[in-house]
Amino acid sequence: MNILDHRIDIAPFRHSPNCDARPDAADISLLVIHCISLPPAQFGGAYIEQLFCNCLDPNAHPYFQEIAQLRVSAHLLIRRGGELLQFVRFDQRAWHAGVSQYRGRERCNDFSIGIELEGSVDQPYCEPQYQRLIEVTRLLLKYYPGLNRERIVGHSDIAPGRKDDPGEGFDWRKYRAELAVDSVAEIGRG
Ligand SMILES: [Zn+2]
Repeated sequence: MNILDHRIDIAPFRHSPNCDARPDAADISLLVIHCISLPPAQFGGAYIEQLFCNCLDPNAHPYFQEIAQLRVSAHLLIRRGGELLQFVRFDQRAWHAGVSQYRGRERCNDFSIGIELEGSVDQPYCEPQYQRLIEVTRLLLKYYPGLNRERIVGHSDIAPGRKDDPGEGFDWRKYRAELAVDSVAEIGRG
């Protein structure tokens, strides 16, 4: 797995129009973890990709009438089985965080990469998703010098009271512990 031209080479790229230029293309310094499932708490299907690409059929499910007009996308989606999709190049500003603030700085979309896990705030995530997320996180941390293990948050951390994802089902201890092990191993390999 590698990054070429701000895209992960193994991830199918589904172009989302829901992005624009970053104010500072060189400032990529926050990783935001989200979750999404469409319809809510149902997994599988192509509805998430359709939402991010503005082609979700509002009549396919009653809930979709509320959201089909949204203009949103994360950079990446990790599905339940660990499959990775990319929608927006990392040097572009994807519209994933909305009104948000990190350490006093607003508009987190300006300087963050958004990763959606297919999931629901009250359900555990799948092991292949953790493994893929850890792999992707390591790659992004290596590639973008503004990122580090301290600058990884949930959507709920930067939009408290408004957003609750990725939720209690996301095991931050496991994620951070495995990231730490990986980086120690990397130092050991020299
Ligand atoms: Zn979110």
